[in-house]
Amino acid sequence: MEDSLVWHHSNRGIYDVKSGYRMAVEAKQSAVLSGASSSLLLPKDFWKVIWSTLVPPKIRNFWWRVCYNKLATKENLFRRHCSDSHQCPICNASVESIEQLLFRCDWTRAVWFACDLGLLPGIGICPSTKIWTVSLMEMCSNAKERKEIVGKAAVVCWFIWKARNEWVFSQCPVNPQAVVGKVYTFWREINQPLTSMVDPILAVPPLPQSRPTWHCPTCGCLKINCDASVAVDSGRTSIAAVLHNLQGRLVDGIVVSAPSSSVLQGQARAVRLACRLLQTLGLSNV
Ligand SMILES: [Zn+2]
Repeated sequence: MEDSLVWHHSNRGIYDVKSGYRMAVEAKQSAVLSGASSSLLLPKDFWKVIWSTLVPPKIRNFWWRVCYNKLATKENLFRRHCSDSHQCPICNASVESIEQLLFRCDWTRAVWFACDLGLLPGIGICPSTKIWTVSLMEMCSNAKERKEIVGKAAVVCWFIWKARNEWVFSQCPVNPQAVVGKVYTFWREINQPLTSMVDPILAVPPLPQSRPTWHCPTCGCLKINCDASVAVDSGRTSIAAVLHNLQGRLVDGIVVSAPSSSVLQGQARAVRLACRLLQTLGLSNV
């Protein structure tokens, strides 16, 4: 038998974008996990930024616990024999890790999309909250932006965590819209004296007044929607693509920030992002 090149990250031994992408994500995850005992892979000012975000100390402390996986999630409680289940208490669909709780559960994804920050990682694209925090910092050009964007993300997660706890301890059903309302109110309160200093792309967007009607995909298909939000002053754009199934449930989505000079260019980038997401997932019936 002749020698031949084999891509051992896929079952067929042939390279494809999906398996290459998965391998890259796993490699990054293992690299960070292997460096968990040191902070060599973190930016030098990582913890300094966390502890100087423009949010109340209780939220900074919360974010520190999130990055160190110290929250009392079902997964962590189960590992310590303090819970009889590691399942997410809200969807019961998967293990309740910090990342599942904050980014992957359907209702939390609804919160992120409604917050319109352009920060939500795609399902399976956020191996750890610490890595995600690093990626947020890398999007910024200076320390002030880093503090603001990490602070805003931490506030969203804080209110998600509070709503989750109200369900667990008081059986109050989670309500994404109510959580978004609390986030906006909170931002307004803490940003009041800072409004003139905030970069347009990081400024609190107004609450949406009305939304166009969205219809589920037709039988046998998934539906993908994409759009762009352009901050003209800074020349940066948040672009997003979301994928829904027949029942209208969120299947996957991705949000990235990119340079852009016009609405048209931003929308073109959004279409390309949607195509890449479908290509990565190996989907064609959309
Ligand atoms: Zn869940």
